[in-house]
Amino acid sequence: MRRVYFDHNATTSVDPEVLRAMLPYFSEEFGNASSIHSFGQQTRAAVERARESVAALIGARPAEIVFTSGGTESDNLAIFGLAAAAAGKAATGKRPHLIATSIEHHAVLNACQALERRGADVTFLPVDREGRVDPDDARRAVRPETVLITVMHANNELGTIQLIEEIGRIARETDIYFHSDAVQSAGKVPVDVNRLGVDLLSISGHKIYGPKGVGALYIRKGTRLEPLLYGGHHERDRRPGTENVAGIVGLGKAAELARARLSSEAARVAALRDRLEQGLLEQVAQARVNGGRATRTPNTTNVTFPFIEGEALVIALDLKGLACSTGAACSSGAIEPSHVLTAIGLLPEDARASLRFSLGRENTDQDVDFALATIPGVVEHLRELSPVYKKPAVAS
Ligand code: PLP
Repeated sequence: MRRVYFDHNATTSVDPEVLRAMLPYFSEEFGNASSIHSFGQQTRAAVERARESVAALIGARPAEIVFTSGGTESDNLAIFGLAAAAAGKAATGKRPHLIATSIEHHAVLNACQALERRGADVTFLPVDREGRVDPDDARRAVRPETVLITVMHANNELGTIQLIEEIGRIARETDIYFHSDAVQSAGKVPVDVNRLGVDLLSISGHKIYGPKGVGALYIRKGTRLEPLLYGGHHERDRRPGTENVAGIVGLGKAAELARARLSSEAARVAALRDRLEQGLLEQVAQARVNGGRATRTPNTTNVTFPFIEGEALVIALDLKGLACSTGAACSSGAIEPSHVLTAIGLLPEDARASLRFSLGRENTDQDVDFALATIPGVVEHLRELSPVYKKPAVAS
């Protein structure tokens, strides 16, 4: 059976070049990067080369990159680390205040909610139908006790890209630290920490054809941040623990490849995504694309197929060989409709009837042909089973 993978926002395969770069670090190059002998020196050199590659992908200095266990940890380190450092210096006695958006990934959303339970105040900014935050809303939300603004660069469900540069300017003018979760944008669109005006930026290996369980947090020089964990002096005291050398090497290689291929891949994948999207709109009655189409990552489309239960469609398509998703993989199985789709104004039943297709490096024109030959029929079949669906009358 042909198998087509359109779920690259959930995870990507490890690029063969990445795997090749990693393999020696599981065997002959096994040294602890903190050891002073030659075994350690070699792995230390590999870790530092990876740091340079990751820094180059996002326009940072290598010393500003801290390796973590992935996007989730990077987001948590940014949010809790910043809040803890701010609490240390706050003399106002007021509850610290954070600004986030209502469409953040759960790694940010739940971290902010945990901070709320510990006494912080968080403003969750709304988004418009396109999925965008109005920078003026961010400006209006600023208070004297605001310690952090966190706004994701690209959304995982819609691909929507936020006006990070404008929000970065507001953060600078108001002297507030600014974090952005760039897990879904790095490697897909240009990311430059100085142009964006961020102080902290999260990335993850497994979204850019690197391994799972490794990521990085960019921390602008001079940013005050408490670690999440306590231990040795690794990563400039910001993230203790013996380095995951093979993972870090893999992330470094993935960053290098993403940087080299970014513009050609973005154009190629966008053309595939656009053909898929157009085909679905033409071939499936009442199908609608969610979020702004002009301001998205090149690989993502989110489509509502009214009268369908999204999970049922995912399973039916999987049986035909096509993998896609109803939204954030980590919340699949939850009964709740996507918080992102309801935030852009979808009714719960339409949010539940929506699928995300996220394309990637190995997809081809034939994959899109296969999807377009498969999806309309499966949607039609499921609709026929639906008690609420009425087939449109065909004009004779
Ligand atoms: N942030 C965003 C926007 C994501 O899409 C994801 C993963 O889906 C994460 C954070 C979490 O990254 P990781 O899986 O590396 O922990």
